[in-house]
Amino acid sequence: MQDIQDQGSTNEYNPQAVESAAQQYWNARGAYEVTEDPSRPKFYCLAMLPYPSGALHMGHVRNYTIADVISRYQRMNGKNVLQPMGWDAFGLPAENAAIKNNTAPAKWTYKNIDHMRDQLKSLGYAIDWSREFATCRPDYYRWEQLMFTRLMKKGLAYRKNAVVNWDPVDQTVLANEQVIDGRGWRSGALVEKREILQWFLKITDYAQELLDGLDTLPGWPDAVKTMQRNWIGRSEGLEIHFAVENEAEPLTVFTTRPDTLMGVTFVSIAGEHPLALKAAKNNPKLAAFLDELKHGGVSEAELETQEKRGMDTGLFAIHPISGEKVPVWVANFVLMGYGTGAVMAVPGHDERDFEFAHKYQLPIKQVIAVAGVDPDYDPQHWKDWYSDKSRPDMRVVNSGELDGKSYREAFEFLAKKLEADNRGLRRVNWRLRDWGVSRQRYWGCPIPVIYCPKCEAVPVPEDQLPVVLPEDVAFSGVQSPIKADPAWRKTTCPQCGGAAERETDTFDTFMESSWYYARYTSPGANGQVDERANYWLPVDQYIGGIEHAILHLLYFRFYHKLMRDAGMVKSDEPATNLLCQGMVIAETFYRENTDGSKDWINPADVDIQRDEKARVIGAVLKSDGKPVQIGGIEKMSKSKNNGVDPQTMVDKFGADTVRLFSMFAAPPEQSLEWSEAGVEGMARFLRRFWREVITHVGQPDHPEVDPAALDAAQKTLRRQLHETIQKVSDDFGRRHAFNTAIAALMELLNALGKFTDQSDQGRAVRHEALESMVLLLNPVVPHVSHALWQALGHAQRVLDDQPWPQADAKALVRDSLTLAVQVNGKLRGTIEVAANASKEEAEALARAHPSVAAFLEGQAIRKVIVVPGKIVNIVAG
Ligand SMILES: [Zn+2]
Repeated sequence: MQDIQDQGSTNEYNPQAVESAAQQYWNARGAYEVTEDPSRPKFYCLAMLPYPSGALHMGHVRNYTIADVISRYQRMNGKNVLQPMGWDAFGLPAENAAIKNNTAPAKWTYKNIDHMRDQLKSLGYAIDWSREFATCRPDYYRWEQLMFTRLMKKGLAYRKNAVVNWDPVDQTVLANEQVIDGRGWRSGALVEKREILQWFLKITDYAQELLDGLDTLPGWPDAVKTMQRNWIGRSEGLEIHFAVENEAEPLTVFTTRPDTLMGVTFVSIAGEHPLALKAAKNNPKLAAFLDELKHGGVSEAELETQEKRGMDTGLFAIHPISGEKVPVWVANFVLMGYGTGAVMAVPGHDERDFEFAHKYQLPIKQVIAVAGVDPDYDPQHWKDWYSDKSRPDMRVVNSGELDGKSYREAFEFLAKKLEADNRGLRRVNWRLRDWGVSRQRYWGCPIPVIYCPKCEAVPVPEDQLPVVLPEDVAFSGVQSPIKADPAWRKTTCPQCGGAAERETDTFDTFMESSWYYARYTSPGANGQVDERANYWLPVDQYIGGIEHAILHLLYFRFYHKLMRDAGMVKSDEPATNLLCQGMVIAETFYRENTDGSKDWINPADVDIQRDEKARVIGAVLKSDGKPVQIGGIEKMSKSKNNGVDPQTMVDKFGADTVRLFSMFAAPPEQSLEWSEAGVEGMARFLRRFWREVITHVGQPDHPEVDPAALDAAQKTLRRQLHETIQKVSDDFGRRHAFNTAIAALMELLNALGKFTDQSDQGRAVRHEALESMVLLLNPVVPHVSHALWQALGHAQRVLDDQPWPQADAKALVRDSLTLAVQVNGKLRGTIEVAANASKEEAEALARAHPSVAAFLEGQAIRKVIVVPGKIVNIVAG
C-alpha cells in the first residue's frame, strides 16, 4: 500500500486536501489536453458555453457535471475525448453593467471570466483548457465577419427595411422571441414597432433541409424536434389571386384551406399592405387607423390574444369562383411579414375571422359540414370541423361544384382549376422568417460592411478583417460608443476609394454561439476551422437547457450547413445526441413589508424545519430566530433570492460532494431540488466509502479472488458487485440515468458494510469490490477516486486512462433462480430451482408447490409451458 499521507490526506476524508492534490497532478500533466488520434474512436462531449455573468450558479454546475461524467466515462471506455470550454462573452448585460458602474464592458467581462474560470477549475472538470476562448476577442469573431462577407457575395446575407420590435429602454431591436407578453425580455419595457434597415441571413433557404434533418437525429429529444418543426412551420396551401375592383393588380392571399373558398365573405389585409396605404391616401380616417396600428406595437405572441380591430378600406375584391364582390378590410391580426400580408376571411370556420365578422357585422357562411351533426348554426361545431380537416366524414357544402368533396378532393380540384388560368398556384409556406442579425448595441461583433454614397453597402475586404471593436470606451447614456464616435465610423470605400462610413450595428450574439463548437476543434486555425474539424465533428453529446430548443439549436444547425456548403465541414448536422438538463429549483422564503411588498430571504440564512416526509413545515431567520414565510419551490433566481452559491458549497463540502449531489438528486432531464440535507447525505456517503477503503488496506495482504473457492456469502457479494458494474455501465453510457447508478453504488457500499468476513477470500472479494467502486465512481467524484486508487496500492495516474470495469459473466450466474408459477394466467406462487435445473424438474417443483397443488386438485392439466429463468405456466381445467 502506498502512503497517502503524501497526498495531504489523513485517515479521515479531507476533501480540500484530496481535491487540491488531484487537480495539481492533472494540471502538471495536461491530463485533459487532447489531439486528433485516428487510431482511437473519438468522443466530443460539449456543454453549452456559459455567459460570463459574474459567478457560476447551480445550473452551470449541473450542466458541466453531467458533461464531465459522460466525458470521463467515455475516456475510461477507450475513447479519445474532447471536452472544451469557452465564453459567450458578448451581450447586453455587460453593457448594462458598464452603464451602471461606469466600467468598460470588456473589463467587466474579462474580470468575470477570470473568476468563473477559477470556479470551474475548483470543480475539477476534465476540460482541455488549452482550447479556451472568449467570443469577444477579435481572433474569434474575425472568422464570422469573413463568413458574413462571403454570405453577402452569395446573396445569403442581405439588407432590407423591416418592421422591428424596438425596446425603448435598451434602445435596441429585439427578435420576436425576445419579446415576452409584449415586453422586452431583459428590460421588461413595452415594445414598440419601428421600421429600420437590418441585415438578415437567409435561413429560409434552408427551411426544408432544417426540417428534414430532424428525422436524422434519433439522439435528440422529441420535445426539441417538435418545437423546431413547429417553429419552421411548413404548410401546404394555395396562393389565390382575387381581382380588385378598379385596380390593375390582383390581391393575392395564401390559404391552407382552399376547401373553404366559397365561405369567403371578406378579405383581410395588413396595415402595411400597399393596397391599404393606397386606400388611405383619400381616406383620412383610414390613414389615422393605419398610423395607430403602426405605433401600437404588438408582438406575434400577442396577435392571438389581442382584441381584433379593423377598418373597411372601401375597396372590393372579386371572388374568383362566384364573381361576387367582397369587401377588403384592414385587420390588426394580419402581418405583412407573413405570407402575402392578405388572408381570405372565412368567418364560418375560423375563430379569428368569426370574432372579427361578429364585431363588424360581416356575413358568416357555412361551407363545411360533418355527417350526423345538427346543421343548425353553431360556431363551436363549425370551428371543430374546420380545424380537423382529416375527419373522413367532413364534406364541403353550399359551394356549387365543390359540394360533397373532402378536404383533399376540394384542394386538388381548386388547385387544378385556378392554376389552369393563372388565378392561383400551389405553394408551400413557412412560418420560419429570415434571421435578423443586426443589433444597435455596442458590445458585439461589428458587422463588416462599409456604406458608400456611390457604391452602397460594400463588404469589408478580407485582407482588412477583422473590423475590431474598440474595448477601451466610455459610455454616455445607452448610446453605443462606436455610433457616437465619428472617427471610428469614418473610412474609405474599398471599391471607389471615396469617403465612406462603417456599419455601427453589431451582430446578434447568437452568431457567436452558432459556430463556437467548431472553433474548439481547430484552435489557432487560420480560418473558421481547419481539417481537424472533420476528426472531431459532429459533437457526439451536446448538453444544455431546454430553453435553447428553438433559437440557439436552430441557428447552430443552420450555421453548420453554411460551413458545410463553404467546404469547411463534411457532416450535415452539428450534434448527434442532445441532452437537455432540467432546472435547479429551491424553496423560497420571505417576509412581508407593511406595504405588502416582499423581502426574499436566501435559504442559506434560514433554519428549516421539516416533517417526517422531508416537507418544509417551518423556517426561522438564523440572525434573529424569528419565523419567515415559506414561498414554495421555484427555479433558482435572483428575483426570489433562492440561489445557492456553488462556491460556498464547494468550500464547505468539497467539489466531489457537490458533484455527487447534483448527479444523484434527480434524473438529468428533470428538475433538481436543492437540499442542504441531501448534500450532507452525500458527504456522509463519501466519508463512509473513504473509511471502508482505509480500513481494508490496513488489513494483512490477501490472495487473488479464486471463484472456485468462494462460499455462498462471498459469491453473493461478488454477484452484487458485477450486477452493479453492469447497471452503472448501462446507466452512464446509454440511459444517462446517473441517479440510479449512484443509488446502486450506495447499495453496494451498504452490502460491504455488512460483509464482515475477514478470511483470505473474504478480503480478496472486498478488495475487488472496493477497487471497482473507485473506478465506477471516478466519473462523478474524480478527486476521491484519484486518492483512493493510490490507497489501494496503485501508482498515481490519470484514472480516466484506467479501463472501465467489465462485468464478469461467470460472477453473474446465480446458483438458484426464482420462478413464478401461474395457473391459467394467474400467479399462484414462486419456486426456487437450481440454476441448471431441467424443464421437467422445474415443472415437477411447480406442481408440488402447496398452493399450486391445491388449485390444481380435481383439474386436468392440459399444457405446461416453462420459460427458463422466469416462469412456469400451467393450463388446467
Ligand atoms: Zn464607393
